[in-house]
Amino acid sequence: MRLLVVEDDPDLNRQICSALTDAGYAVDKAFDGEEGLFLGESEPYDAIVLDLGLPKMDGISVLESWRRTGKSMPVLILTARDRWSDKVQGFDAGADDYVAKPFHMEEVLARLRALLRRASGHASSELTCGPVRLDARSSRVTVDGNPIRLTSHEYRLLAYLMHHSGRVVSRTELVEHLYDQDFDRDSNTIEVFVGRLRKKLGIDVIQTVRGLGYRLSPPADAR
Ligand code: CA
Repeated sequence: MRLLVVEDDPDLNRQICSALTDAGYAVDKAFDGEEGLFLGESEPYDAIVLDLGLPKMDGISVLESWRRTGKSMPVLILTARDRWSDKVQGFDAGADDYVAKPFHMEEVLARLRALLRRASGHASSELTCGPVRLDARSSRVTVDGNPIRLTSHEYRLLAYLMHHSGRVVSRTELVEHLYDQDFDRDSNTIEVFVGRLRKKLGIDVIQTVRGLGYRLSPPADAR
């Protein structure tokens, strides 16, 4: 899952980005409204954290502009405490949720998890596919109850496939959702990660759909 953080306070931006990276997401950052608007329009983010008070272009205008052009990714807005009018304006502009400043990072993480799983049609933060379980709260993966150790890239890959299980996900889509914009992207590495992931999971849940990509579905005997 790839996220964008639009926040002009450099310390806060850094704190949010590092918490999100630690939680297993690929993260891009923007420090003003124009940069945020551009990235949100041009990159396929799974969710966006958007501050409302931003230089160059305010957060509400940024959000309205995304929604006008049909961008439907979940957006979590950061509002000033006690400014109820900010929240109303934010929701009316197309926000999906808000957190009031100052906030606990855990709350931001929990709200993002909820937005991400709802966007992909899941009700629980624990995703399962046959014997494979992924707990988005702890970033832990088990197979038949046995913990599996994954690198951050392997985890991101599995988390994305699990959020979109049952449908074919192309390599291009994976590259766009697993790496931040500064990463040297190469769709061949996806194949390598899929291979490693298959080996570590030890069961056949990732199917290669020739010419199209990959599909996660429970092994035949568990269906
Ligand atoms: Ca601000």
